Amino acid sequence: MIPPDLKRCQAEWTKYNAFVMGGPTKTSGRCDSRPVFIAFEKDIGEDGKIGSMTLCAHCREILEAQVAIGKVAPVLIKKLK
Ligand SMILES: [Zn+2]
Repeated sequence: MIPPDLKRCQAEWTKYNAFVMGGPTKTSGRCDSRPVFIAFEKDIGEDGKIGSMTLCAHCREILEAQVAIGKVAPVLIKKLK
């Protein structure tokens, strides 16, 4: 398991590029923002461990929206000190 990164948000994003001629239609990377929150999985994962990741305010909103529609397992979110 990757330890929480307290200096950089750990969210990964995927961007779909519409109307690209010959270029990649999909790019992905990692968020560059400074994290403000840390999210923990509420349930133990398949590896027998509780996953956690740091998040900036923007990515927290995205994560909560995905949890709300059932795309992501429920998480507990705490503010970083
Ligand atoms: Zn972020």
